[in-house]
Amino acid sequence: AYENKLEDALSFIQGGERFLVVSHVQPDGDAISSTLVIGWLLRQLGKEAVLINEGAVPVRLAYLDGAASISIYNEQESLAAYDRIIAVDCADFRRIGRVSDAFAEGAQLLNIDHHPTNDGFGSVNLIRTDAAATAEILYDLIVHAGVAFDREAATGVYTGLLTDTGGFRYANTNPSVMRIASQMLEHGVEGHWIADHLLERMTKSQLLLLQRGLNRLSFSDDNRIAWLYINKADMAETGAVGDDLEGLVNYARNVEGVEVGILFKETDNGDVKVSMRSAGVADVAAIAQAFGGGGHIRAAGCRLDGPIADAMTRLVKSVSEALES
Ligand code: 5GP
Ligand code: MN
Ligand code: MN
Repeated sequence: AYENKLEDALSFIQGGERFLVVSHVQPDGDAISSTLVIGWLLRQLGKEAVLINEGAVPVRLAYLDGAASISIYNEQESLAAYDRIIAVDCADFRRIGRVSDAFAEGAQLLNIDHHPTNDGFGSVNLIRTDAAATAEILYDLIVHAGVAFDREAATGVYTGLLTDTGGFRYANTNPSVMRIASQMLEHGVEGHWIADHLLERMTKSQLLLLQRGLNRLSFSDDNRIAWLYINKADMAETGAVGDDLEGLVNYARNVEGVEVGILFKETDNGDVKVSMRSAGVADVAAIAQAFGGGGHIRAAGCRLDGPIADAMTRLVKSVSEALES
């Protein structure tokens, strides 16, 4: 049962002294929040925690206490000293990215995640696929450990919940999520400020990117699939960073009658990063999985080989077939 899994996770923590905490590449709000919250819990339990991600913390999330303590992975650095590793919000081992190249041989791994596509890659797995965010599982773990929340931890849990529920709007926004969010507010979380900062404000680059994306919005013949793309030149000419793509795919998905919205992003090496959002009928996790990716029923992603025009043709065809079946 879930209680036993919480206990196994806690034993994993109690059985070590120094921990390496990692999350997924191109970290989102839940990934960063969960990294910081598990780091916080480890410290509360008298453990040492080193937090590393392949990529930088999005500027937008810098308000989180300890955000600066997450270091960007440096290939020169040896991680061989860490025999206990905790991965948060990673659906599979590959999502950890290049950081995992430096893991110690035979290191024990605790996998804490909420993705339905999680393959149980850890030596210990704390997975609850009906959790709205990994941060919700960490809430359970903190309660299970009997550790009292403070504002730092509460802000992390709240941020993970807010971002993975799209601002408490997606289908995963259930009574439990709202109860936890309410408790976190009791601990002093500034909900209104975080909502404005994360959901309303845009960088100038983000708006310029949106302008280009919308210019290229395309529809399938039956108008049930809408997509847009962003290429390398768009990123360079608008001064955008990866973060500035956040929310762009929703413009495609939000069109009345559209079942699947897709964003194609040409990466620096010419690969194509795909983001899919479903209005409810299509299981985009299944489509993404067929291309080696994964995610949730209504929000999933994968990577395709370029060129971008071919990638778009292949993926739209696959989505179209999924909608017909
Ligand atoms: P996004 O479109 O925002 O990048 O990702 C949406 C969801 O799909 C997230 O839950 C993310 O974890 C998952 N996802 C995105 N890209 C990939 C991928 O390449 N592989 C896997 N396994 N999951 C992905
Ligand atoms: Mn995530
Ligand atoms: Mn998540």
